[in-house]
Amino acid sequence: MKWNELPPDVAQLSVNDLTPRLGFVDAMRVLGLPAGSPPVVLFRTDAALRVEAHARSRSVELGGLLVGNVFSETANNRVVAIEVCEAVPSEQFDSTSVSLSMSPQVWQEAAAFRKNDLHVVGWYHTHPNLGAFFSGTDRTTQRGFFREAYSLGVVFDPIRNEEAWFIGPEAEPVLRHQIVRT
Ligand SMILES: [Zn+2]
Repeated sequence: MKWNELPPDVAQLSVNDLTPRLGFVDAMRVLGLPAGSPPVVLFRTDAALRVEAHARSRSVELGGLLVGNVFSETANNRVVAIEVCEAVPSEQFDSTSVSLSMSPQVWQEAAAFRKNDLHVVGWYHTHPNLGAFFSGTDRTTQRGFFREAYSLGVVFDPIRNEEAWFIGPEAEPVLRHQIVRT
């Protein structure tokens, strides 16, 4: 299964849908940001635990998909927040400059989340003991296959306990204060 065979499937939600889904503190943090701020990432515990368990399961490069919701301002469609609700680990993971291969089961599992209105919002992979950064190949993968404004790319180094988040086709860094673990 090549990632670029997958159709984009995200229906963006309005920022008005966001507040009832968040606790008070999270909502204030999101909505209190000045206009034009980069999007906030809400990294739900279920997703964080699943990624961490997968990342620590083997000391080879592995990865998977992130599923969740995208929240945009109604007026201009600007992405305000991405909620990462779940992770879908892939048994097979092979990222090169021209393709990203994952197990067929990953797509099936990610597609199954759609009945809960959760969509693919990005991908993650590991760099065991190499440090958390986006390589040239990772940038190419992001630009080629995760090219929406909300698309997240995350690298974890489970040995050095590092992580790095990127967003959008040009893999802009997501800074630590933009990530809310909740
Ligand atoms: Zn990488």
